[in-house]
Amino acid sequence: MFDALMIEKNGETQTTSIRQIDDTMLPDGDVLVGVEWSTINYKDALAITGKGPIVKSFPMIPGVDFAGEVLESKSRYFKPGDRVLLNGWGVGEKHWGGLAQHARVKGEWLTPIPLAFTTREAMIVGTAGYTAMLCVTALERAGVSPDKGPILVTGASGGVGSIAVMLLSRLGYTVVAVTGRPSETDYLKSLGAAEVIGRETFSHKGKPLEKAVWAGAVDVVGGQILASVCAAVQPRGAVAACGLAGGMDLPLTVAPFILRGVSLLGIDSTSCPRKERQEAWCRLAELIDAKELESVVSECSLSDAIGAADNLLAGKTHGRIIIRTQ
Ligand code: NDP
Repeated sequence: MFDALMIEKNGETQTTSIRQIDDTMLPDGDVLVGVEWSTINYKDALAITGKGPIVKSFPMIPGVDFAGEVLESKSRYFKPGDRVLLNGWGVGEKHWGGLAQHARVKGEWLTPIPLAFTTREAMIVGTAGYTAMLCVTALERAGVSPDKGPILVTGASGGVGSIAVMLLSRLGYTVVAVTGRPSETDYLKSLGAAEVIGRETFSHKGKPLEKAVWAGAVDVVGGQILASVCAAVQPRGAVAACGLAGGMDLPLTVAPFILRGVSLLGIDSTSCPRKERQEAWCRLAELIDAKELESVVSECSLSDAIGAADNLLAGKTHGRIIIRTQ
């Protein structure tokens, strides 16, 4: 028997608690993983609290991320003892996820952990860091290089934002962090932000085109903030959009796209192909010094995960929350 965080639904009432289960109850898959670390991402917080329609079937073990060691494998990719991580693929939404001591999944969903990272460090990076890497790579492919001008990162004190600031600064970009929390200024500068500006700068509807200041942006917020950012991007610049922390809508005109050639680049980490994931993780291992990760992490036990999810949605956390499952 082992511990798992379980979301159950009875009528309209959702409850989340620690349950004791065994391997026979786990879903089908060709690899059984002994999970050492998992995380709380925005999506996990919505699932655990029931504040967003993330979970597609009940009961569900949440956790879109996990890292650990292969215990049993019928997959051609892995053997017992291999260190693996998982991000996305509908795990924690449609298939039981990482907030448990064991997980059974398809081998093709797993990524080998780069040698540079421990299982714990792989989860400090987690889906947030991997998504930040996909955003940065998308900007580079769109021609946004460090010499083109400053790059904005919105929702900068959160998981994706913090690691995007770290990566962009490491790659030589001048990073301007956008936050709703001025108290996080020193934290954001310690990650490499050259400047920190308030969220309110972008939170009101402006003109279809504003002064073209930004070479590019990583946006985790969506809504009016993403619209205002697009209106102020330089000709031929690009915005990588990955989140909806501020809203699903996008009150935007086509002006930035048809008059300035700005590109809006959609980022979807969940179903990103295996090869691109592995490339992103290799690059993360090259760019991030594992010791730096300690500045962005808060660590909790499985039983603290519910409180951590509440705190994340209340905007009371910064950086990454990792969960010690063992
Ligand atoms: P976090 O909660 O860690 O970070 C979100 C940050 O957004 C907050 O820290 C806050 O930053 C800012 N924010 C929160 N609420 C609002 C608001 N109402 N208006 C404006 N800004 C706000 O979440 P994650 O970093 O884990 O995820 C960020 C977003 O990216 C989420 O929407 C998530 O679903 C999405 N995501 C998407 C992925 C993909 O594949 N497309 C993968 C991973 C995440 P501050 O206080 O600094 O302003």
